[in-house]
Amino acid sequence: MAVVGAGVVGAGTAWHLAQCGYSVCLYDPRLGAAVDSDQINGNRNGTSASLGVLMGHVYRRHSGRGWRLRQRSMALWPQWIKALQTFEPDLRLQSPLIQLADDDDVLKRMQGLVERRKGLGLQLIPAMDNPVPCLGGLSSLRDGRLEPLMLQRALRLAMATVSVQQHPAKVRNLKRTGTNGDPRWRVETGEESCQDYEAVVICTALNSDGLLAPLGHERPMTPVLGQVIDLELKDGPSNWKNWPAVLSVQGFNLVPKQPGRLLLGATLEPGAEADPSALKLMLDRLGSTLPWLKSATPVEHWWGLRARPVDRPAPLLEQLEPGLLLASGHYRNGVLLAPATAEWVQKGLNRSSAMFTSS
Ligand SMILES: Cc1cc2nc3c(=O)[nH]c(=O)nc-3n(C[C@H](O)[C@H](O)[C@H](O)COP(=O)(O)OP(=O)(O)OC[C@H]3O[C@@H](n4cnc5c(N)ncnc54)[C@H](O)[C@@H]3O)c2cc1C
Repeated sequence: MAVVGAGVVGAGTAWHLAQCGYSVCLYDPRLGAAVDSDQINGNRNGTSASLGVLMGHVYRRHSGRGWRLRQRSMALWPQWIKALQTFEPDLRLQSPLIQLADDDDVLKRMQGLVERRKGLGLQLIPAMDNPVPCLGGLSSLRDGRLEPLMLQRALRLAMATVSVQQHPAKVRNLKRTGTNGDPRWRVETGEESCQDYEAVVICTALNSDGLLAPLGHERPMTPVLGQVIDLELKDGPSNWKNWPAVLSVQGFNLVPKQPGRLLLGATLEPGAEADPSALKLMLDRLGSTLPWLKSATPVEHWWGLRARPVDRPAPLLEQLEPGLLLASGHYRNGVLLAPATAEWVQKGLNRSSAMFTSS
């Protein structure tokens, strides 16, 4: 198998497939550099830019593919984390996640969710004035956050132990080879030697359409940029005792780091250029609720692009042809959905090989 793209979706998929006994080669030019150095002037790939928040159980809908994928991922994450701790012992799901209500309608919706999902660790929290004024909210004990750089480091180390070949190269082209009854996929990187595979899994987020269009499959994606800021606080909380791992206020997430430090994000900006006014708007909006944010100093600032499928619901999980699978366009939830995606790919490959054996 070839997996193209080594963000959390591709790396997680390659690792899972190798654990299931497949021989896997993973392609991504970024594999040539350390995960931590995976940034150019603040611009990171989707996974490294992400806050790593897992909002699985607080999802608004109660049915459909989105809900099923979230439930499956949240069921798989504890096993994934346990296995990955062998490589990064500090990797853990930091919880709980608390969402605060800013108006009565939101509060009512939260009350409805808690009523339906008591068994999934959701609880209501009362109105308060301090430290964050709110009408109330909900606390989700089993949602939370994974540190995305640590997660990617763990995945790279884990892949090495199950013999995933990590190939630091950009895939320029995919070509059909083989015969109708025995299709093969050629992966071209511009190097002299090319490899043919039984199956290719495309996990290249925004670059997926570039590989698919020449094969006659149009799957355009649109970029939605997100900025994150790492703040040093002068006032306000000096340590994070009794704070949740993730506090979600007005749609933005606050993630406490070490004492006096806080991650804040992420903006939702159409296009691929970071707009300073979107960052200012986020800080101003939150600063009116949390005045201590106004005096905070930025320590670091970065951004990344989310791949949003055009006119199709995210994510795109499709078998386009025998041996050609697409697992991409995860938009705002790629970290959350990585385990369920990897499982979907593996089941797709099993179905596809069963089809060939019986035909
Ligand atoms: C600011 C921000 C905050 C976010 N917060 C969260 C969050 O809290 N929780 C959450 O679940 N999600 C979050 N997301 C979304 C999440 O980051 C993405 O959904 C997820 O990273 C998608 O993973 P991926 O592996 O599909 O894509 P990426 O991480 O973008 O990886 C794609 C990889 O494909 C490689 N590639 C591209 N073209 C080729 C090619 N031709 N050949 C070989 N390799 C190629 C690239 O080099 C890249 O490494 C956030 C995103 C942003 C930008």
